[in-house]
Amino acid sequence: MQQFQTESKKILDLVINSIYTNREIFLRELISNASDAVDKLYFKSLTDDSVKVDQSDLSIRVGFDFDARTITISDTGIGMTADELAENLGTIAHSGSLDFKTENADAQGGDVDIIGQFGVGFYAAFMVAKEVEVISRAYGSDEANRWVSDGIEGYTIEPAEKETHGTDIILHLKDSTEDINYGEYLSEATLKQLIKRYSNYVRYPIQMMCNKTVAKPKPEDAGDDYKPEYETVQELETINSMIPIWKRRKSDVSDEEYHEFYKTDFHDWEDPLATISVHAEGSLSYDALLFIPAHAPFDLYSKDYKKGLALYSSNVLIQEKCEELLPDYFNFVRGVVDSQDLTLNISRETLQHNNQLKAIARRVEKKVKQELVKMRDKDREKYEGFFKDFGRGFKFGIYSTYGMEKEKLQDLLLFYSADQKKMVTLEEYVAAMPEDQHSIYYAVGESTERLAKMPIVSTVLAKGYDVLLCTEDLDEFCLGTMHDYTPVVEEGQEAKTLEFKNVAGGDLGLETQDEKEAAEAIAKQNEGLFDAMKNVLGDEVTKVAVSSRLTDAAACVTAEGPVSLEMEKAFYMQPGAEDIHADRVLELNPQHEIFKVLQGANESGDTEKLEAYTQILYNNALLVEGLPLADPVAYSQAVCKLMK
Ligand code: ADP
Repeated sequence: MQQFQTESKKILDLVINSIYTNREIFLRELISNASDAVDKLYFKSLTDDSVKVDQSDLSIRVGFDFDARTITISDTGIGMTADELAENLGTIAHSGSLDFKTENADAQGGDVDIIGQFGVGFYAAFMVAKEVEVISRAYGSDEANRWVSDGIEGYTIEPAEKETHGTDIILHLKDSTEDINYGEYLSEATLKQLIKRYSNYVRYPIQMMCNKTVAKPKPEDAGDDYKPEYETVQELETINSMIPIWKRRKSDVSDEEYHEFYKTDFHDWEDPLATISVHAEGSLSYDALLFIPAHAPFDLYSKDYKKGLALYSSNVLIQEKCEELLPDYFNFVRGVVDSQDLTLNISRETLQHNNQLKAIARRVEKKVKQELVKMRDKDREKYEGFFKDFGRGFKFGIYSTYGMEKEKLQDLLLFYSADQKKMVTLEEYVAAMPEDQHSIYYAVGESTERLAKMPIVSTVLAKGYDVLLCTEDLDEFCLGTMHDYTPVVEEGQEAKTLEFKNVAGGDLGLETQDEKEAAEAIAKQNEGLFDAMKNVLGDEVTKVAVSSRLTDAAACVTAEGPVSLEMEKAFYMQPGAEDIHADRVLELNPQHEIFKVLQGANESGDTEKLEAYTQILYNNALLVEGLPLADPVAYSQAVCKLMK
C-alpha cells in the first residue's frame, strides 16, 4: 500500500471528520471532475488529428446499487494511467498553499467549507464513502488500473479490466449512524435532484438509468372494458439541461442558479457579490457571464495568483484562464466568455494578438466598471465591503502604471474622511469642499483613530477643510502617483484641478498673507535659536523651523522633499529594501509656552538645558509620528532627569 503524504492525511482528516456538513456536494465534485476529463479528451480531438472521438460518445453516467450500497460515476473522458492515478489522487493540494489551508481551517475552529474554498474536489467522496474505487483507462492505452482507498492511510493500485477509455468512480457508502443516513443517496429521486441542483449546466449529458412506468401494449383481443396495464421499465435519461447558463437571458435564470453555477465552476463557497450577464450580437458576437466575488481569494495578492476568464468558442473550452480578457486591476473577476467568432484551435500566441479578443476585453472591462459604479452609488455598504477586499488592486493599478490608468480607476477609490467620519469618494470629498479650498488634504498613518488625533489634522479640520485619513501602505504611493484630481463637471462648467497634499509636510497653503508675514518675522528673530537646535540634532534633521501647522502641540517632525515619513516607514518595513530617509524638519510652535523656555535657555547661554530640551522635543515628535527613536535609553534618562 502507498501511504498518503502527511499533509494529505491532514486534509483528509479534516474533510472526513470535522467540518463539512453539506455532504451532498460530493456528487457535484465528482461530476465536475468527470466533465473536465471529457473536456480534455474533446479538446484533444479538436487539436490533434490522430485523436478521433464521436461527440455522441461523450457522456457522464451516474448509477447506484441499493443492496451493495454503491454509487458509480462513470465518464468517457481522457482517463488516467497508473502513474496519473498515483499522482492525481495520491496527493492533495499540489500547490504550496496547503499550510495556509489547514492553518486557516484550524484557526476558524474548523468551521469552514474547505472543499468549496480550496477545491479538494475528489476527496469529497470520502465524506460519504468508506472506500472509493477508481477504475480508469487512459485514452490511447489498452491497460486499465484500479485505485482503491479508505481515505485514511493510503491507497493501492493494481491492473484491472475496462473496455473503454474513461473513468469509473465507485463509492462504497459508509454505514448509516443514528445521526446520519448515508443511504439517502441510494435513490433515483435524490440523485436526480442533486444533479439538477448542482450540475445542470455541465456541457455533457449526465445520464441515469431511470425507472419509468409505461402502459403495456393493448392486446389485440382486448375488449371494450380493457383496463390498461402498466409496467416499470428502465430507460436511460439525460438529467441535466446542458444549455450553458451564459447563453441564457438574465431574465430566464434565477439568482440561485447563477450562484450555484458560480460556486461550482469557480470553487467559491460564497455567493458572488454581483453577476453580470452580457449578450452581444452584430459585428462581434459573444456571450459573457461575469462574477464579482464577495471576498478576495487568499492568494489574490500573491505572485501565484492567475487572473483570467474561461474562454469558450461555441461551448467548447479553449482556455481555462485567458489572461488577455482582464486588465490586472480587475483580476478578481471570474467568469466565462463564449464567442463563436473565435476559431477553435487558436494557440496562446495568436490569442494575444487577436483583435476580436481585445475588443471583447475592452467591453468586459467597461461592463465591470459600470457594475462597480452602480454598486458604489446604489449600495454603498456593499461597495465598501467590496472595496475593503479589492480596493488595494485599484491603488496598485494606479501606482504600478505610473498613473496611466488613473482616469479609469480614481472614481472607484474610497478614503476615510476625518470630517464626515465615513468612507467617501474623491468626488464626494470635492463636493463638500468650501470655496476657498484648493487642495485635497490627506494624512497617512497606522489607524484612523491615531491619525484623527494628530495635531496637524485638527489644524486643517479647524480651517474647515476635510482630511482623508489613509491607513494602507499603498495609499501614499497611489496619491503621489496621481498627483492631482480633476472632478467631472457638468458641461459648460470649468473643471478645477486639485493637488493632493500630505498634511505631514510641505506648504499646505493654509495661512493668510498676514499669517505668513508674521511667521517669517518670527523665523528671522529666532534664527540663532534654530541654528543652535539644528546643531544639537546634527544630521537627524535638515532644519529647525517655525510651524504653521501646529495649534496645541509644541513641536512636530515633518518631511521635505519627495520622500515622506510614511514612505520611510514603508521602506523600513520591507526586508532588503534600500535604507531611504526622508529629509526631516523639526517644526516648532511659536505660540507654545515651551517655545519661550527654549528662547530663554538660548538667550541665557544655558546650552545644557537647550540640548536636553531639543532632544526631548524631537524624540517626542518622533513618538507621535510612530517613528523609531535612535536612542530610546538616552531619551528615557533625559525625561527622568527632568522629573527629579
Ligand atoms: P481538481 O479537480 O481541483 O484538480 P481533484 O482532487 O478533484 O482536484 O482531482 C485531482 C486530479 O485528478 C484532477 O486534476 C484530474 O487530473 C484527476 N481526475 C480526477 N477525476 C478524474 C476523472 N474522472 N478523469 C480523469 N482525471 C481525473
